[in-house]
Amino acid sequence: MKNYKITLIKGDGIGPEIIDEAVKVLDAISTDEDFELKYDEALMGGCAYDITGDPLPQETIDKSLASDAVLFGAIGGQKWDSLEREKRPESGLLRFRKELEVFANLRPAVVYDELVNASSLKPEIIQGVDIMVVRELIGGIYFGEPKGRDENKGWNTMVYTRDEIVRIAHEAFKIAMSRDKRVCSIDKANVLDVSQLWRDVVTEVATEYPEVTLTHMYVDNAAMQLILNPKQFDVMLTGNIFGDILSDEASMLSGSIGLLPSASIGSKIGVYEPIHGSAPDIAGQGIANPIATIASASMMLRYALGEERAADRIDAAIKQALSEGYRTKDLSAFDAKEICSTSEMGSIIANYAAKCTL
Ligand code: NAD
Repeated sequence: MKNYKITLIKGDGIGPEIIDEAVKVLDAISTDEDFELKYDEALMGGCAYDITGDPLPQETIDKSLASDAVLFGAIGGQKWDSLEREKRPESGLLRFRKELEVFANLRPAVVYDELVNASSLKPEIIQGVDIMVVRELIGGIYFGEPKGRDENKGWNTMVYTRDEIVRIAHEAFKIAMSRDKRVCSIDKANVLDVSQLWRDVVTEVATEYPEVTLTHMYVDNAAMQLILNPKQFDVMLTGNIFGDILSDEASMLSGSIGLLPSASIGSKIGVYEPIHGSAPDIAGQGIANPIATIASASMMLRYALGEERAADRIDAAIKQALSEGYRTKDLSAFDAKEICSTSEMGSIIANYAAKCTL
């Protein structure tokens, strides 16, 4: 029997509620899979600041690096918004990604057949959408130097090195090989020098993947095409800021932010987390949708632990719960047969996953 160490970072707001449901589902399947998961909790975000004075205690970094994967809830909330920037929960998260060197953020945007009516776009436009956004996560304008601000001016610098582009491009091409073998690289090469380097390097890396078709698209056009004809995309490869914006746009194709998972991977260990934040407006009410976090746990099994069958069982259980009409409040207007709480949804998916034999 294999043993895996998982660091659980529940965080703030709805974080603890949704992580508990993901653990419930993982425990329901690991009993009859050939592996055991051992969990260790660590603090990050506002709750970490309240206890230790630091949104990212060193102990959290150490525990995470000593584990096989990190399952992460969400951090942040109004209570900590007035702190100086370094003390804020969001700074802890950026620092965490940098420490773990998770340079690739994978964000699937999948439209469930059962929820085609939940999108703000017409069903015929979005039915069958299955996009993987591969976003560079620890470079580009969010980290480039120089940056600063004085009374009359603010400045940031968008920098990418050849090596940074090469490694994220390889991730995108490798993922495309397991999908429909199409990569669309997003840039602004008509205006930005950094984007021209991006385009040239991605084109070079593509020669190592002759089965994959590479296209390039300017970011402004990509924003438009995602709404006009999202089915044209398989893998979208982007830099940090373009991916931040486009992946949020892509996620809305699915209807609710509460459905979508993500994986942040790199040369050390990976972080698996829902794309949404800590939703302070609904925290503690038992109405948060846990599906994004449960699907993140599935990505963890697939990408970090190589437990494909277990991941498939969870994905099938999510689909079954949705097709049987179970909905949390955020999706209650869309073909709901029964409205359930966060914990009820977790139990329903855990139950289906336990029974699912693939
Ligand atoms: P948010 O994603 O937390 O919430 C946006 C809206 O979506 C809210 O109305 C919320 O109720 C709803 N929502 C989010 N997740 C949901 C779920 N699982 N089920 C049902 N509804 C859900 O974004 P925000 O309100 O802009 O930010 C709140 C806090 O979260 C801020 O402090 C922000 O900095 C932080 N944040 C953290 C992360 C992260 O931890 N990775 C990401 C984004 C925002």
